[in-house]
Amino acid sequence: MSTSVVVALDVGGTGMKCALVRPDGTVHHEERHPTLAGRGPEAVTENIVEVAAGLAGKARADGLDPVAVGVCVPGVVDEENGVAVWSSNVGFRNVPLRRRIEERLGLPAMLGHDVRAGGIAEARLGAGRGERHVLFAAIGTGIAAALVVDGAGYAGAHGAAGELGHIVVRPGGTPCPCGAAGCLEAMASARAIGQRYADLSGLRDATAFDVVNRLSSDKNARLVWHEAIQALADGMITAQALFDVGTLVLGGGLAEAGDALILPLKAEMEKRLTFHRLPAIVRAALGDTAGCKGAALLALDHLERTR
Ligand SMILES: [Zn+2]
Repeated sequence: MSTSVVVALDVGGTGMKCALVRPDGTVHHEERHPTLAGRGPEAVTENIVEVAAGLAGKARADGLDPVAVGVCVPGVVDEENGVAVWSSNVGFRNVPLRRRIEERLGLPAMLGHDVRAGGIAEARLGAGRGERHVLFAAIGTGIAAALVVDGAGYAGAHGAAGELGHIVVRPGGTPCPCGAAGCLEAMASARAIGQRYADLSGLRDATAFDVVNRLSSDKNARLVWHEAIQALADGMITAQALFDVGTLVLGGGLAEAGDALILPLKAEMEKRLTFHRLPAIVRAALGDTAGCKGAALLALDHLERTR
């Protein structure tokens, strides 16, 4: 009997990370493809289905047995019904992605949310390994989070749990694309930090990376970073009040700052604590493969449940 594998895809705004993963979580094969988001949601859907079919074919060519598909996408996701409900960067509007994949491949498929899938992978295979209550926060262009308890992601009643980036931390602050003002994402995402520094320094196209690199030499960089850390601490302490996790895993581009982020954030969160407890704050371990590994776990969990 041939060895089984699952087909895993992490669909992002620009690219897709794909893999064939064995039941023990080890990776047999990896590949990357452009998402083709500019061509519209139907073309993206067709692209996802074709790439998944190609991976299943590759598995068979290698003498393996593809048994299920796990796909994660950004935006609002109805995991129960396998529907990509809404996404700003890919353009999904109620796309029945699970059904489209199952029809084309003849395999059971699971659909998940990208950050939630990444959080599940970090909690089970990465920086949260061995911890029961994990909050994974991805801080990049935007800010989103995933609560993972005993290895399972919490999706919420409408598939929209974990939108930490839209907690208002500065009422009347910077307008956010969501329509509110002063959202955590508008004050402290990597994009917001770069923008604020560009405004202060006059350096067009400045990034959060520039800010971190100039902390020792530029007082504007220190000011921007300090304000961002304050906003992040306000957001994270709110999350901790709600979830009381044991471990906070920081991922996304901003986590590349390492201790320059973690140490001051921890100190600022400590200042804000009253009766709650501070979680351990650690940097994500799986990098940009977390979503794809999480998609594989969704498929493997599904097999486990239906066996
Ligand atoms: Zn917002």
